[in-house]
Amino acid sequence: MKERRVLVVEDERTIAESIAARLRAEGFTVEIAADGPSAVAQFHAVQPDLVVLDVMLPGFDGLEVCRRIQADRAVPVLMLTARDDETDLLVGLAVGADDYLTKPFSMRELTARVHVLLRRMERAAATPAPPAIRLGDIEINEAERRVRRAGADVHLTPTEFDLLVHLAGRPRTVLPRERLLADVWGWGDGSGTRTVDSHIKALRRKLGADLIRTVHGVGYALELPS
Ligand code: CA
Repeated sequence: MKERRVLVVEDERTIAESIAARLRAEGFTVEIAADGPSAVAQFHAVQPDLVVLDVMLPGFDGLEVCRRIQADRAVPVLMLTARDDETDLLVGLAVGADDYLTKPFSMRELTARVHVLLRRMERAAATPAPPAIRLGDIEINEAERRVRRAGADVHLTPTEFDLLVHLAGRPRTVLPRERLLADVWGWGDGSGTRTVDSHIKALRRKLGADLIRTVHGVGYALELPS
């Protein structure tokens, strides 16, 4: 089986070490970074398959780390927030975090989330590539996981990409937020619908406000350009 690498970014040494120990026990190769600048440097050196990223860090914070690494390469990011702070959370999702955990969390919960994120990426990579999808001036290439708008590359995070492909596969169909959470995120309990809203907002910002229609109280539908 292919070696899977995780970069853990956390300045609290005991937390970093216990996350690393647990993930190593699950068979992952784990590297640790303890501040913003070294997280970005390690990301380039290690080329991890997933990043566990604390928000509060010395140097620059986890949100800035997330922005910088996602601008370089789409990688799943599991963000750790110190408290149930909605601002951290929404900003985190806006800069490209795919999932988050609020401290304190159990190691069991953390490894479960890591596995879900990696399974989603691997499932997407293993699916045979359909032809590129065209929506007006937007072109979605699933094989390369690339999106272009009017010929220019648009950078999407892994979750934004999966969400767009999911919506584009069922144009004009209203998809409830709970169903999107289950199908795209793999979350079955219906909580976290705000996560869907943040990612829809990011897609609209990057691809045009009128691409996705809000159906109030229900969910979202992708509109085909006329
Ligand atoms: Ca911290």
